[in-house]
Amino acid sequence: MRYSKMLIPTLKEIPAEAEVISHTLMLRAGLIRKLAAGIYSLLPLGLSVTKKVEDIIREEMNRSGAQEVLLPTVQPAELWKESGRWEEYGKELLRFKDRHQREFCFGPTHEEVITDLIRKEIRSYRQLPLNLYQIQTKFRDEIRPRFGIMRGREFIMKDAYSFDCDETGADESYKKMYDTYCRIFERCGLRFKAVEAETGIIGGSFSHEFMVLADSGEEGVVFCNGCDYAANIDRAEIRIEEKGNEGEKKKMMMMKEIKKVNTPGRKTVEEVSRYLKVSPQDLVKTLIFETENGIIAGLVRGDHQINETKLKRFLDSNIMVLAGDETVKEVTGAPSGFAGPVDLNIAIFADQGVKGMQNFITGANEIDAHNINVNIGRDFEIKGYGDIRNVREDDKCPRCGKDIDIKRGIEVGHIFKLGTRYSQILRATYIDSKGKEQLIIMGCYGIGVGRTISAAIEQNHDENGIIWPMPIAPFQVFILPVDTKDTTVMERSEKIYNSLLDKKIDVLIDDRDDRPGVKFKDADLIGIPIQVIIGLKNLREGNIEIKIRRNGEILKWRVDTVIDKIMELI
Ligand code: ATP
Ligand code: MG
Repeated sequence: MRYSKMLIPTLKEIPAEAEVISHTLMLRAGLIRKLAAGIYSLLPLGLSVTKKVEDIIREEMNRSGAQEVLLPTVQPAELWKESGRWEEYGKELLRFKDRHQREFCFGPTHEEVITDLIRKEIRSYRQLPLNLYQIQTKFRDEIRPRFGIMRGREFIMKDAYSFDCDETGADESYKKMYDTYCRIFERCGLRFKAVEAETGIIGGSFSHEFMVLADSGEEGVVFCNGCDYAANIDRAEIRIEEKGNEGEKKKMMMMKEIKKVNTPGRKTVEEVSRYLKVSPQDLVKTLIFETENGIIAGLVRGDHQINETKLKRFLDSNIMVLAGDETVKEVTGAPSGFAGPVDLNIAIFADQGVKGMQNFITGANEIDAHNINVNIGRDFEIKGYGDIRNVREDDKCPRCGKDIDIKRGIEVGHIFKLGTRYSQILRATYIDSKGKEQLIIMGCYGIGVGRTISAAIEQNHDENGIIWPMPIAPFQVFILPVDTKDTTVMERSEKIYNSLLDKKIDVLIDDRDDRPGVKFKDADLIGIPIQVIIGLKNLREGNIEIKIRRNGEILKWRVDTVIDKIMELI
């Protein structure tokens, strides 16, 4: 392609709307443009990268035996009502009506549609296993679309669905997708980790997320340094250090008398512990939540953070929101910051780390007051203990007990073992070899195409711009004639350009009549891996300069060997 004919609207300035580097660079390099919040146009360079990523995905999915389909984006409400998700999905589901007032949604995911297809088409065990995938536009009305196409509302996803006769088969399908995903992200040139994850709104029995490690990641990822344990923050188990029973008993004798003390204006753990000259570990925080089954309290040790997703899973509830000031006042009789478990008339759940704590400090359900020497059993009852707090750097691996690391990650892919979550409710069955009707066992597997591209930029850039990994670069080679007015330079440039085209290399020639400085800047910004710099001085000596974008290395090659050497590099 010729630069002068392409729409590559590069920008010098950092756009005000951009919050992370990949977003900035995608705008600056002219890959994307915003139409509305979370809704973007892909310009030629952006589309080119998208197609490269899609091709890698396609090749690996096909290699795994999956078949490509294309399902409708517009989906009838009836199907979603049948699965129960019309209600469950909430505001992320974009709903609308047709001219006959029939309800529809724009697909945020396709479990319903694919299960409907399968229940109509599959009769016998002989037709299974099956894995169908598509690469398609999804719409999710995200509450906070941000970071460009990393978290868009309209975005391209590869989604796949597997159908098996039994658990063993379903586990094999899952494993195959796990391996396929590793190959896909490796081929995209990403540094990633597969971590144990939540199943969330999609449902099912277990899942893994594929996380690209980057500081801008929205998710916390926990890894063990000793074994291969890895999980996202919401999933990471807390290792409980075993305590001897003797110690427990001895301590139980020392319960002190509960007392109310003044803590004027001190609400936070830090303020209270400093004021009372104790450590945050001696406090227990009481948080009030609203759930679909009523208001509850969650307790964690003062220096710990409650994890709402864990609490939600522990209580098996669909709704879990931190109560607002008014509700807190209603339930505890005091403003937020002074809630405590004593004389609280709601169900109280506690983190397992609170078990065994004695003579601790809590809010007194009264403004400017806390209770000291509070004890479980004597002063209040706990309805249940669970793992409901965030893991910390000083926790140990739940599997092997070694040190752990916590890093930030971008979730680029997610695989789920669904089991019979959808086949049961939508009645997707087959007849087994003995003539008996059985439920189909399902799995589902997603990759965010745009998010993968954003993540690739987060990991591959410098102060001058993007540094594309070769397999997903919009072009492999960038030819930069320094002086477009010089015929020797232009003839040689055209010759190299055409030779590379003949060899099926994706090559962009900067034929713009612009100052070299502008061209060099743009070349670095759009980040094509190999720059072929053709200048008169070098040509006269029979040389051509090659710049490797990744490390800035400059190579000087003889004119007649240039093509072969480029092919070697690629
Ligand atoms: P998140 O927790 O980031 O919202 P999710 O768990 O909702 O993601 P899935 O339903 O598992 O995502 O979707 C599969 C994949 O689609 C994700 O791994 C991600 O790469 C991509 N994806 C999900 N939501 C978006 C979005 N709003 N914009 C771009 N890609 C997305
Ligand atoms: Mg989501």
